[in-house]
Amino acid sequence: MERAELELWHTRKDLKNLDSLRSKGPIVLVPTMGALHQGHLSLVERASELGTAVVTIFVNPTQFGPNEDFDSYPRTLDRDLELLKDYPVAGVFAPEVSEIYGAPQGVMVQPGHRGMGLCGGSRPDHFSGVLTVVAKLFGLVQPDIAIFGRKDAQQCLVIGQMVEDLKMNIELIDAPTLRESDGLAMSSRNRYLSNEQRQQALCLSQALNKAKDLLVKGCCQRKEIVGTMEEILQTADALDYAEVRQVPNLEIEETLTGKILLAVAAKVGPARLIDNLVLELKNNQVADSYLLGTGRKS
Ligand code: AMP
Repeated sequence: MERAELELWHTRKDLKNLDSLRSKGPIVLVPTMGALHQGHLSLVERASELGTAVVTIFVNPTQFGPNEDFDSYPRTLDRDLELLKDYPVAGVFAPEVSEIYGAPQGVMVQPGHRGMGLCGGSRPDHFSGVLTVVAKLFGLVQPDIAIFGRKDAQQCLVIGQMVEDLKMNIELIDAPTLRESDGLAMSSRNRYLSNEQRQQALCLSQALNKAKDLLVKGCCQRKEIVGTMEEILQTADALDYAEVRQVPNLEIEETLTGKILLAVAAKVGPARLIDNLVLELKNNQVADSYLLGTGRKS
C-alpha cells in the first residue's frame, strides 16, 4: 500500500476523515491500549499489507478490575505516534474516556461460554469490558477486517464469538505472538519488571515450551501437561492458571486431540503476565496453529 500521511483523531467526528479512504480498499483495524512494542507493530504491519491500517490507542477502563493497574498503565501517546510514523498507517484514533463512555454506561456486552475460566475466571468483568469497547470501536471505525494478537488467545476467541453471534460483518485475523530473543512474550506490562523479575518471567514461555515438548513426544494427557506447566511456574511469585483447552470453544478434554490452547498466567513482581501457544495435534504431529478464521496469510 502507498504510504499515507498519519492522521491523529481524538473524536468520533474526526473519524469522518475515514470515509474518503473507504473506496481505496478494506479498512483494517488494530485496537491497542498503546505503550506500543514490536508485537503491536507486527499487527500494524500485517494490517497495512491487507488494506488501509487504522490503529486505536485507548486504555479501556471497563476491562480493568478495581485493584488492577488502570491508573498506572503506561500512557505514551507521543512515543507511540513517533513509532507509527515509520509504518503505512492512515490514522490513529486516540479518544478520551468521555468520548467512548457516556455516563451512565447502559449496555455492556457479556461474553458467552468462551469467557468462562482462564482470564475470565480470575478477572470477572474483564471480557465484558473488552467486548464492550471492541463493539464500540467496530461501530465507530466500521472496519472490514480487525487484527488481534494470539498472545491474548481467550480474548481472540471471545471476540470471535461476539462477531459471529451478533452477526457483525467483520473479518477477524489473529496474528502470531512476538517474543524477545529469550522467549519472553512482548507485553506493555514487561516494563513493570526489574532485571531479576524479567528473568523470573521466563518461566511462562518455558512452561509452554516444555508442554509442547511433551506433546511432541506423544503425551496427550491433559493432567500430565498441566502438572508439568504448574511445576515450572513455581518460579513465578504466584500462579494464576496453567491450562489446556480445546479450540475454539475452550472445553476441557482429558485426552487431547485436534486444535488445543496451552495457556498460562502468573504474577511476577507487580505484573500479571499471560502467555499461550495454539497447537494442532494431527496424525501424531504437533504443529503451531491459529485461532480464528482460516489463518489467512495475505
Ligand atoms: P494491548 O495493547 O495489550 O491491548 O494489545 C493490543 C493488541 O496487540 C492485542 O490484540 C494483543 O493481543 C496484541 N499483542 C500484544 N502483545 C503482543 C505480542 N507480543 N505479539 C503480537 N501481538 C501482541
